[in-house]
Amino acid sequence: MRYTGPVCRQCRREGTKLFLKGTKCFTEKCPIERRAYAPGQHGQSTSRRRKASEYAKQLREKQKVKRIYGLSEKQFRNTFERVSVQPGIAGHNLLAALESRLDNLVYRMGFAPSRSAARQLIRHRHIEVNRGLVDIPSYAVVPGQEIRVREKSRELGLVRDAMDQSARGQAPTWLAVDRESFSGRMLERPQRPSIAIAAQEQLVVELYSK
Ligand code: SF4
Repeated sequence: MRYTGPVCRQCRREGTKLFLKGTKCFTEKCPIERRAYAPGQHGQSTSRRRKASEYAKQLREKQKVKRIYGLSEKQFRNTFERVSVQPGIAGHNLLAALESRLDNLVYRMGFAPSRSAARQLIRHRHIEVNRGLVDIPSYAVVPGQEIRVREKSRELGLVRDAMDQSARGQAPTWLAVDRESFSGRMLERPQRPSIAIAAQEQLVVELYSK
């Protein structure tokens, strides 16, 4: 099941910023700036600070990556099973598959302020792939395909605000974004060094390989 509780609580549980709320994440309103301890009545207790077991570390890392991309346990596990038979390093393949999801790319290209907002845009049929409507957030994009905000959707406040925010940053090097035409392409399958995620993906692989 996908988590449906307060979004910021997930960052506090993982003890780091997961950037789940768009622009708020970059302001002083971000709760993790003020309360960088786990939520709940035991969040600050010393017992929570005991040395974590290997299993606990692996579990936390899996939860963190899963939460960053906004997947349910089943979706995340299925993605891992799919990539684990591919040649190469399983952890790198996992991140590349997650980065190639349509919802992630709409977010990375700056057309949505967060991955969850990108999912909403896709489900509400505002996004095209190769000029055809795609309303499946998990759609696996391959290099060369064009992702575009539908013409009639370009004035949406959500899209405009996200474009304004993203204008201050830079898209990853493996993406080409044309802001004029609200479109972009994945130039190549992303390699681990160019994936800006502070995660130890090998811990996820270890957990699922038990
Ligand atoms: Fe996480 Fe963003 Fe909430 Fe901060 S504002 S706790 S980074 S979701």
